[in-house]
Amino acid sequence: MSDRFSTVPLPLSSPGTERTLAVRRYGRPGARPKAYIQAGLHANEIPGMLVAHALAQLLEQVSVLGEVVVVPVANPIGLDQRLHGVALGRYTFDRGVNFNRGFADLDDVIAAQVAGHLGTDAADNVALIREAQAAALAERSPQDALDGWRQTLLSLALDADIVLDLHCDQESVLHLYTGESLWPAAADLAAWLGCRLVLLADDSGGHSFDEACSALWWRLAARFGAAFPIPPACLAATIELRGRSDVDLDLAAADARSLLRFLQGRRVVDGAPGALPVTSCQVSPLTGVDRVTAPMAGVICHLARLGEVVTPGQVVAEIINPTAADLATARVPLVSRVKGLVWARAAARFAQTGDVVVSIAGSEPILERTGTLLGD
Ligand SMILES: [Zn+2]
Repeated sequence: MSDRFSTVPLPLSSPGTERTLAVRRYGRPGARPKAYIQAGLHANEIPGMLVAHALAQLLEQVSVLGEVVVVPVANPIGLDQRLHGVALGRYTFDRGVNFNRGFADLDDVIAAQVAGHLGTDAADNVALIREAQAAALAERSPQDALDGWRQTLLSLALDADIVLDLHCDQESVLHLYTGESLWPAAADLAAWLGCRLVLLADDSGGHSFDEACSALWWRLAARFGAAFPIPPACLAATIELRGRSDVDLDLAAADARSLLRFLQGRRVVDGAPGALPVTSCQVSPLTGVDRVTAPMAGVICHLARLGEVVTPGQVVAEIINPTAADLATARVPLVSRVKGLVWARAAARFAQTGDVVVSIAGSEPILERTGTLLGD
């Protein structure tokens, strides 16, 4: 077994059980820049696991200048939650909590620790805050197994310069979510991956994993003001590696090569990445997403293709209720409210009333969308 491989136990497991995270580490511990990459946070999102595996194979063959930590299967709890042979993922079985919500908000504890010690040098402030982060996390007592799992992941990732959380959607083009404060600084990541869409928000709501690592920086910057410069020192992104069924050796190998080039460009890994690809990536505010829902239960018939640009009023899907007494009312068209990119579609082909059927990214905020921006 490589000394790069280790397992980290998850705390507060049920009696008689033990769960661990498999962790691969490259480079020297503490070296900068540090990149943290994980896959499968929602448990049944498999494409990222294969990409993490392919990336690990590449990392074995290169010189790592900083540090890279790879957690290829981030959620052993969720992966084990099977019902009738199917890993349902996304939510805990016992309380229905989304696995990508509720990561620790350490703002107040860290702010209290660094207040009075921040100065005018941004790099010094970053170092001070990273120390306070580690101390705040170490002092925190997880309340249950789920929280212990969250804390273990954060303890591996929180001090990283780069955090890449590999997910997938139901049916989807390759896209990513990141902070508005990290754009356009993160444009190289989107370009290397060939993202079709970048969705930006500084606060999506719900304390997702990527924002637990990144948003702290701009919230502290706002709290302490310009006299004490605090840069967005963690580039964190949730990368949606297409749809659930897009698990393919060639795709994964290509995605892993893209991530390696990104890491080379950031000098985490030695080597020349080559010229940054020119891509036609749309950048949208998360507030500009139109989630088209089913007004009644029925069979989903998608009409818009993934990656298609649609216009307001365009029919993107139909819901057909085969049990309607009057056949004239059995068919309901679903229309887009915005001009934008069809980036995700429901994988199921039967909708209950209110289910999201198509997601479309417009370039302007849709005014009534406020509060929590992520679908749960
Ligand atoms: Zn996910």
